[in-house]
Amino acid sequence: MPTAYAELCSLLKHAALLDSLAQLASWDQETYMPEKGAAARAESVALLATLIHERRTSPRVGELLAACEGDAGLTAAETPTGANLREIRRDYDKHTKVPAELVAEIAKVGSQAQEVWKKAREGSDFAMFRPWLERMIGLQRRKAECLGHAPGGEAYDALLDLYEPGATAAGLEAVFTPLRARLTDLLGRVRGSKAKVRTRCLEVKIDPAAQHAFGLAVIEAMGFDLTAGRVDTTTHPFCSGFAPGDTRLTTRYREAHFTDALYSTLHEMGHGLYEQGLPKMGKDGGPSDLYGTPLADSISLGIHESQSRMWENFVGRSKAFWKWALPKSKKQFGKALSKFDAKEYFAAVNTAAPSLIRVEADETTYNLHVMIRFEIERALLRGDLAVKDLPGAWNGKYKEYLGVKVPDDRRGCLQDVHWSFGLFGYFPTYTLGNLYAAQFWEKINQDIPDLNKQIAKGRFDALKKWLNTKIHAHGRRYTAGDLCTRVTGAPLSSEPLLRHLSAKAEQVYGV
Ligand code: ZN
Repeated sequence: MPTAYAELCSLLKHAALLDSLAQLASWDQETYMPEKGAAARAESVALLATLIHERRTSPRVGELLAACEGDAGLTAAETPTGANLREIRRDYDKHTKVPAELVAEIAKVGSQAQEVWKKAREGSDFAMFRPWLERMIGLQRRKAECLGHAPGGEAYDALLDLYEPGATAAGLEAVFTPLRARLTDLLGRVRGSKAKVRTRCLEVKIDPAAQHAFGLAVIEAMGFDLTAGRVDTTTHPFCSGFAPGDTRLTTRYREAHFTDALYSTLHEMGHGLYEQGLPKMGKDGGPSDLYGTPLADSISLGIHESQSRMWENFVGRSKAFWKWALPKSKKQFGKALSKFDAKEYFAAVNTAAPSLIRVEADETTYNLHVMIRFEIERALLRGDLAVKDLPGAWNGKYKEYLGVKVPDDRRGCLQDVHWSFGLFGYFPTYTLGNLYAAQFWEKINQDIPDLNKQIAKGRFDALKKWLNTKIHAHGRRYTAGDLCTRVTGAPLSSEPLLRHLSAKAEQVYGV
């Protein structure tokens, strides 16, 4: 291996090793750190972030990258090394284009705005949050300007590209607009159905310790390596794949609704399997030569989310899953579930109804919540919508797309934390995840025709192997769009998701 390339990879590996400690500190903050540790921890994490940023943007990285790019033997587009260099360049430019002062100001305003947002949401007081949101949008416009976008695009593209490389607002609009019309139509049919879905089977009291043991048994059967990961409890579940051989999941338990924890565990495990499947670990169990470089990193938030949604919704909400999981849970939970059968669970976990809160939404309506946020944040950045008019625009879209009346801003435009700390362009990746998951799922079922039979028997090895080899192993070698075409034979489309949701509506509601 040429020395410049080896040195470049080694510098990036060092940055990743530091980053794994920063992530460990954040994980600890969310799980076990005592309350009074918060102030010092915030300083440690900020210092680590500075050190990592300095390493990733150091002039030496720039020099080595330029030297590698001048070596035709390394840069051939179709090779893994060529792809790695393409993506290292991408990261380096992103990290160096935004001045450190602006990064620091966004972080500072973001943490203050988040505190204000918490109080504003509690009191449903939009006027309190308004000046902070105006300030944050100004900062995001400046950031977008530094990052730049393709000719003919818009500022929003620059921010979206941070989470979903290559995606554009116009491209999303082209996929989302027809999807929205057909989802509202599907929702209308579901609402008009006379079918009554019984959900009593979800309201069973189960001890959290038993729920935890059950969750571990399920994800272990699915192939999550518990000797290279663990599951803990937090208010907001997440997955952190911070080092080779160390992927942490968190979940939360509600005693009266055991399926809540089950689905959040399955969701995070889907992220976790992706992290465990990336080529981060060397033969000796330590970091691989690629660790810290794009070839050992996930492609985009949309692709990451496709993995979590697949296990949560396509596997976990299927009839086959309940055929296997119900007898297993009856064994674990004793008599509590004895009255119910797999069919009842399948219907109960697939109900669809319009609601006000995104994080509580079902599989069908969820995407409508996302589209509302996409349209609004795009209009805010363009200046087509003034911040003072945000509540009105929000409530109008909820009425139009979901048919619900928003009673107050707490349950309306103040419900999500994202905008307070500057996450603009992030929301669409949730729906992209659903779309990619559906398209991959159709292909998986063609490649493994008896997959449902396997799932009903608790066999997940063929599915996991498919995901490992077709998606996880490549890291960022392909862009999300290229990977989709390569794996499924077609560019991303909303048809597979619509087919999936329509089939469920038919089974559950007879429409
Ligand atoms: Zn997720």
